[in-house]
Amino acid sequence: MSPGAGNPALSGLPPEEMAALLAPLPAYRARQIRSWISRGAGTFDDMTDLPLSLRAELGKRFTLYAGEVSAGLRDPDGTVKLGITLSDGYCVEAVLLTDGEGRRTACLSTQAGCPMGCVFCKTGALGFHRNLDSSEIASQFFRLREIEGDIANIVFMGMGEPLLNLGELRRAVAALTGGGADFSPRRITVSTSGVVPGIRDLAENGPRLRLALSLTTADEELRRRLMPVTAANPLPAVKEALRRYQERAGRRVTLEMVLLGGINTRPQDAEALAEFARGLDAAVNLIPWNPVEGMRFEGRPLREPDAGEIARLRSRLEKLGLTVTRRFRKGRAIGGACGQLGTLAGGADQALQSRTPVTPQGRPRRVTGQ
Ligand code: SF4
Repeated sequence: MSPGAGNPALSGLPPEEMAALLAPLPAYRARQIRSWISRGAGTFDDMTDLPLSLRAELGKRFTLYAGEVSAGLRDPDGTVKLGITLSDGYCVEAVLLTDGEGRRTACLSTQAGCPMGCVFCKTGALGFHRNLDSSEIASQFFRLREIEGDIANIVFMGMGEPLLNLGELRRAVAALTGGGADFSPRRITVSTSGVVPGIRDLAENGPRLRLALSLTTADEELRRRLMPVTAANPLPAVKEALRRYQERAGRRVTLEMVLLGGINTRPQDAEALAEFARGLDAAVNLIPWNPVEGMRFEGRPLREPDAGEIARLRSRLEKLGLTVTRRFRKGRAIGGACGQLGTLAGGADQALQSRTPVTPQGRPRRVTGQ
């Protein structure tokens, strides 16, 4: 573990918390530090307009980023996945996706593991370890940026259910939007499996982010079997909460459909989805399931939907008047695609078995190809 590990990581603090923590230093010092973080400083020693003695003092009391990069993988399609080992030895994953126009999106984790148990998700199969704190969340962004440069969008769609960790998510968003990254909230999406109290809380108390619901099917009975969250959060209550969010935030919501071959691509799934979307300003995003070895649903192995199933579902949805997009598959070769996160997760030993050599400081020298 590097010196300073376990000390508070400044990059993940909202500006006012950072200023309070640094007191009695004058407020302009906190502004200088935030400015250095926004410019990609790796250590306090990089902050050349701070006196040497202050840099040394800061290095003793704080770290800049939480966790250490212990693994890095690059898919031939350009997707990068990092394993970041936290102070308790648990490894979480963060992914950087690049679209056809070269825009980069950081997919960040909010929990170590996940308690939700969606049957199609590798992270859900790991079970729940703990919530991440704001520094552990925000630091994933800074680590990705350090390796790949500017990032256009952030999605909280990595490991965990963000709305079960809303307090720390808020602090991380405050750090990223008001502190070290000056990120626009309009370029941040939070994805939920459908936690009604969390959606309501977000609606009433902000921040105003883009919201995505991982719906998967609007057939309530099937959804209960695929996503246990449905039992305590029935779809009518989820829809009502989304409506409230739209009223307050004025934002279109995305309904994400992880398509499971032979399970939720039936004509009745299209009809149920159209019914669910009625009255919402919503776009549908089709996400063909990404294979994870050994995952089963009620005794049968899960399979990817074939091209015909996807095309038929899409055509039905469009005929029903829905706006449909399809997510391109990225990061599958490194277990970095939607639903696949968790191959590096767990203890640090596991993470260190990955393919990227790491320096003694825990930084990857480079992100390797396959
Ligand atoms: S899909 Fe999301 S909410 Fe469901 S188990 Fe996976 S990480 Fe958790």
